[in-house]
Amino acid sequence: MAETKTGTIVKVAGPVVMAKGMLGSRMYDVVRVSKHNLIGEIVELKGDTASIQVYEDTVSIGPGEPVENTGAPLSVELGPGLIESIYDGIQRPLDELYKAQGSYILRGSHLPGLNRQKKWHFKPTIGNGTQVGGGDIIGEVQESPILLHKIMIPAGVSGKIEELKEADYTVEQKVAVVSSPDGKKTEIKMMQKWPVRLGRASKQRLSPDSILQTGQRVIDTFFPIAKGGTACVPGPFGTGKTVVQHQLAKWVDADVVVYVGCGERGNEMTDVLIEFPELKDPRSGQPLMKRSVLIANTSDMPVAAREASVYTGITIAEYFRDMGYTVALMADSTSRWAEAMREISTRLEEMPAEEGYPAYLAARIASFYERAGKVECLGKPERQGALSIIGAVSPPGGDLSDSVVQATLHVVKVFWSLMAKLAQQRHFPAIDWLTSYSFYKQHLPKCFKDKQEGLEMVELTQQAMNLLEQESQLAEIVRLVGSEAISPADRMALQTAKSIREDYLHQNAFHEVDTYTSMEKQYQMLKNILHFHTKSLEAISGGVETADIFKLGVWEDISRSSFVPEEQIGQIAKIRDKIDEQISSLK
Ligand code: ADP
Repeated sequence: MAETKTGTIVKVAGPVVMAKGMLGSRMYDVVRVSKHNLIGEIVELKGDTASIQVYEDTVSIGPGEPVENTGAPLSVELGPGLIESIYDGIQRPLDELYKAQGSYILRGSHLPGLNRQKKWHFKPTIGNGTQVGGGDIIGEVQESPILLHKIMIPAGVSGKIEELKEADYTVEQKVAVVSSPDGKKTEIKMMQKWPVRLGRASKQRLSPDSILQTGQRVIDTFFPIAKGGTACVPGPFGTGKTVVQHQLAKWVDADVVVYVGCGERGNEMTDVLIEFPELKDPRSGQPLMKRSVLIANTSDMPVAAREASVYTGITIAEYFRDMGYTVALMADSTSRWAEAMREISTRLEEMPAEEGYPAYLAARIASFYERAGKVECLGKPERQGALSIIGAVSPPGGDLSDSVVQATLHVVKVFWSLMAKLAQQRHFPAIDWLTSYSFYKQHLPKCFKDKQEGLEMVELTQQAMNLLEQESQLAEIVRLVGSEAISPADRMALQTAKSIREDYLHQNAFHEVDTYTSMEKQYQMLKNILHFHTKSLEAISGGVETADIFKLGVWEDISRSSFVPEEQIGQIAKIRDKIDEQISSLK
């Protein structure tokens, strides 16, 4: 660690403080500002003058006060105790601070990210005398009923493991010792630290090749995200960004969920903080928090803390990925993060680029999303981990040409476009099927045990999308000349497209059954709609009137399918027999 430097404040501009006498400091060193000990980070160095972004309120701080460099970069504490935590942007435990100080956190408060008193039961998974290196798993802690925390050797440590013993330990106690060939002994504790701005290393990056199932039909069927993939959900206020993020947090088949709430609304505590701890994991029945970590910026916290929060979140997410887990990180909303960058940049008097954002906006956004991915983890035993990032963007007025949306779209592989028009029609999720996209569709077949079914699903999705596109083209003609003027086959296409929209894509997040649909059920539902379409076209070419087809009772069964519980999925498949029967009755 570098020797500590003490400088003096010369200027305070909102969240940015300038200090002289900081020679020898490095970029991104963490400093303590003024007698209040506010936490800040060096973001610019010119000669002996450092510009510091301060993560706490700088009111009443003035020139002449001291700034002390800690000589260390902004880091997070990693180890048992992360799960179920609610942190602020610099990993201060909000729930603990709240208990200690009430809803307004005092400036300069410092409580460590990981509880120092709590003991965890540690079970070794290797024997004493084993040769170990960075990333090797040496033992486990059952951190929550649904998460087994793997204890790993920190990067850069290698040698023979000794004194490894099953017992209850705090995160700071020694669980083993590694002795290197040159006789050096390193104590291994359950807690390790990692600088947030540096991605955690892996053996190899792999290309994401399986789908992160969400149970949301429009997402899984048409615009799936991969395990290790990236997605962006831009949309104007009230279009359902938060509901989408919550649905994903609830239903994704990930082992760990990290939720970064970047002060979307002006409430003292964001909605997430209140709602999230009450949500239950529908599969295990356990509170969802048992596999989650929350990072929240309350509105009384300065903008700079938002900047730190996305890095704190992604570092924690990478740590769980390194254990060989599938992790999903949700950031809501990255626009607030970008605004923080803009504010800091303005205070630093940097040359602004588009919309006042700094020129490095796109590069920062890209390097954040690049930390997603599927990897071959470091160390033994061999394992793969995946980290998916889902970022919400809230452009002013829902304008997709906004700099943050554009910079994000350049790097993400999935785009869920929320439309105000759909939300107004109460079509939820308001994901527009015509403009959204996913580059992971080719992995869809792997979601099915039956290979044939998987391939068929790809065909079904293609066919359904064609009908939706056809609908949008026909809509204009119908508006001009009326539906009587188009061919019966086109009328049928319109009817089927309507059924795809209303009976399939529309999904009520608040309905007990409808809130989640398995891949198998999605396949059965979509197959019915398209089977009906094919059979109807056959009947039409045999002279049957479309009006008679539209009157058939089986439409009712199709539209009720989404409310059929997963256990009764067989009923949905049987609808096809009913379709055949009713259509042949028309001939
Ligand atoms: P945003 O975060 O974009 O401002 P919200 O996520 O708060 O919007 O959604 C606004 C409202 O839309 C919700 O309160 C809810 O009533 C409705 N809504 C959104 N998505 C769904 C859904 N999948 N099912 C039912 N209602 C929804």
